[in-house]
Amino acid sequence: MSGEGLGSGGGRVGLFPYLIVCLALVGALDQVLARGAGGGDAALIEEIEACRENMLTLAEAEETHYADHGSCTEMIGNLCDYFEPAWRLCCPEDGCGPYRLIVWPLPGRQHCMVRCPGAFQSVHGSIVDGIPSW
Ligand SMILES: [Zn+2]
Repeated sequence: MSGEGLGSGGGRVGLFPYLIVCLALVGALDQVLARGAGGGDAALIEEIEACRENMLTLAEAEETHYADHGSCTEMIGNLCDYFEPAWRLCCPEDGCGPYRLIVWPLPGRQHCMVRCPGAFQSVHGSIVDGIPSW
């Protein structure tokens, strides 16, 4: 009796996973279309934001280095004291790394820049003395 109940119910329930698969496929197709369309590409914006997040983290580490040593550093390895995976950070868009650190050893306040190392640097931007370009 219980077997019969399961059997007849199975026919109706059987459609449900099929619908889920269909919805998943439509979702995946949407993402492919969004990538191909360019312009308001959500995935691309996410990568730009992730790259900028990396630069903010490094700029913060650079500031801590400045506070500790009275100078910025161009050696990303020196920032590993403050942020362990510093040298392993890559631009999420083209996988380039490590990030570029540039220091102007001017008299008085030293200036320090953290720059995206990738081909999309002009879009992703840079941070000078803790101030982002975007
Ligand atoms: Zn980047």
